[in-house]
Amino acid sequence: MKKRILTGDRPSGRLHLGHYIGSLQNRIKLQDVYEQYVMIADVQALTDNFENPKKITTNVFEVAMDYLSVGIDPSQSTILIQSQIPEIGELTVYYLNLVTLGRLERNPTVKAEIQQKDYTDSIPAGFFCYPVSQAADITIFQAEVVPVGDDQVPMIEQTNEIVRRFNRIYNTQCLKECKPFLSKTPRLIGIDGKFKASKSLGNAIFLSDSKEEIKAKVFQMYTDPHHIKISDPGSTEGNAVFIYLDAFHPDKQEVENLKEHYKRGGLGDTTIKSILNQVLQDLLEPIREKREKINFAEVQEILYQGTEKAHQLAKTTMEMVREAIGIKYFNKK
Ligand code: ATP
Ligand code: MG
Repeated sequence: MKKRILTGDRPSGRLHLGHYIGSLQNRIKLQDVYEQYVMIADVQALTDNFENPKKITTNVFEVAMDYLSVGIDPSQSTILIQSQIPEIGELTVYYLNLVTLGRLERNPTVKAEIQQKDYTDSIPAGFFCYPVSQAADITIFQAEVVPVGDDQVPMIEQTNEIVRRFNRIYNTQCLKECKPFLSKTPRLIGIDGKFKASKSLGNAIFLSDSKEEIKAKVFQMYTDPHHIKISDPGSTEGNAVFIYLDAFHPDKQEVENLKEHYKRGGLGDTTIKSILNQVLQDLLEPIREKREKINFAEVQEILYQGTEKAHQLAKTTMEMVREAIGIKYFNKK
């Protein structure tokens, strides 16, 4: 029996290089070895976009196209839409009993997102509780491995706490614990040099960006503000161009040579940006070309089939969960 993976993305926008390096690349490799479920988390995306549902519903298809264009293969990976599996909502309700407000408040990722969104006094309860719904996402598919960026590690810890509590209280083994699977670059910073490239922060290079957009973004990238003249010694620490070169340049030795040169002085920002631009154009051109050939009906069918298959699995887990709690009043199915 292959171990199962659950992974996914919020359809709050198209996917970007942070997704590519943080989790998509792993998913492409892991789909050969594991039974992989890839969730488009529209319910979770609505928690902070509920006033703009159209943004989320249209991006469901954009994200699916991103998956197909990078090489997630629907014959190996099951792609599903979260909202179409109501059992996830049901499981979330049972899990909410097992989590305290204090524990939710301590989640560092949610804390940072609350600040970022300026919620402070008016946090939507659905948003505050999304790690609990994420625990339901993972466990309803009995996943043991979750390929994610490092912002998601607290969600995995929270999931495992819920699993242990549930299994102990209801004296069952029906829920499985899971492990995060981190990439070599578990967090890609934004083109502005900020903490994380994110759809919501508008500081990312998208997989579907045009040649011109990629170039414009690379040339806007944050470097070393003290590196003014070409002859000045520059810093590569926190320098977005070098962080992206580290992540995406296929020749690691060449990157080391460029770093040495930059630190010594004599290497200009325009030169390093031109090199990065070429690296990213080479990476993204085949992805963009593949994306342009995908047709909508095909995507819709893949999502329908994947969601149907996932729904069956979710129903099976929910039967066990209800049975463990003792919620079973009728003999009929
Ligand atoms: P949003 O701003 O709407 O939260 P996002 O850009 O953070 O969007 P998500 O859909 O929340 O993207 O994240 C999906 C997956 O991609 C998660 O596993 C997350 O850790 C990973 N990921 C997102 N951004 C990055 C990044 N900059 N570097 C590495 N991994 C990332
Ligand atoms: Mg996010």
